[in-house]
Amino acid sequence: REQVNRLKNIHRIHAWGSDIPEPIRTFEDLGSHGIHELVIRNITKMGYESPTPIQMQAIPLLAQRRELLACAPTGSGKTAAFLVPVLSHLKGPEKRGFRAVIVAPTRELAGQIYREALNLAEGLRLKIHIIEKISKAMKKFGPKTAGKYDLLVTTPNRLVYLLKQEPPVLSLANVEWLIVDESDKLFEAGQRGFRDQLAVIYNACGDSSKARRALFSATFAFEVQEWCKLNLDNLAMVSIGARNA
Ligand code: ADP
Ligand code: MG
Repeated sequence: REQVNRLKNIHRIHAWGSDIPEPIRTFEDLGSHGIHELVIRNITKMGYESPTPIQMQAIPLLAQRRELLACAPTGSGKTAAFLVPVLSHLKGPEKRGFRAVIVAPTRELAGQIYREALNLAEGLRLKIHIIEKISKAMKKFGPKTAGKYDLLVTTPNRLVYLLKQEPPVLSLANVEWLIVDESDKLFEAGQRGFRDQLAVIYNACGDSSKARRALFSATFAFEVQEWCKLNLDNLAMVSIGARNA
């Protein structure tokens, strides 16, 4: 217990919620959290030697399928903090359609997440898709191809547009993970708009008890925190750095 507190102090890991698991110390610890062996190997192949503080605490939480609000500074490895547990959970292709969706505020950010996902998923044979052009997506998705993909990376605008077509151009009925990256920016830019978009996306995620949500951001925005307290189930919150909440 004392050792765990020391580890958290050193890395300035603050966590709130019930049953917060111990942070991992090394990527080798991930095996005991059920993280896929290939994903652990890919982390090493990418040259990541030790987990960053947000990775230390967020990965064990998401590995337990906890709903999460995570805040850590820009450049502190938030992408891998959600991709490692999500890719590991997806395991391999299942041809049941999208099982995880990652929403990011801009195409550039979505592109970065997509590329990191390809690297971390090497060898898993997962089908990972990024929505770039609406027109291309409209042609690409349909009854024949809908089941082909496992993971979707997109901006909220594009996804909501496709979901609002009659009939919807893609199905999120089998989604088990909904990750919102840079959630502070999305809430701020979209104002009321993004809350509605998030609701459209979450409501499309079939039987809602199955889909788990995690929001990541660089700042501990009050608005986002309040939204999470209100909407997320058995919420865990993690913040890295100065205690400011
Ligand atoms: P954030 O989303 O928090 O701004 P990123 O996920 O974009 O940060 O990561 C920033 C950089 O750090 C990227 O180049 C990424 O490849 C690298 N990185 C992530 N995790 C690690 C790690 N554990 N060790 C070394 N580099 C890492
Ligand atoms: Mg990021």
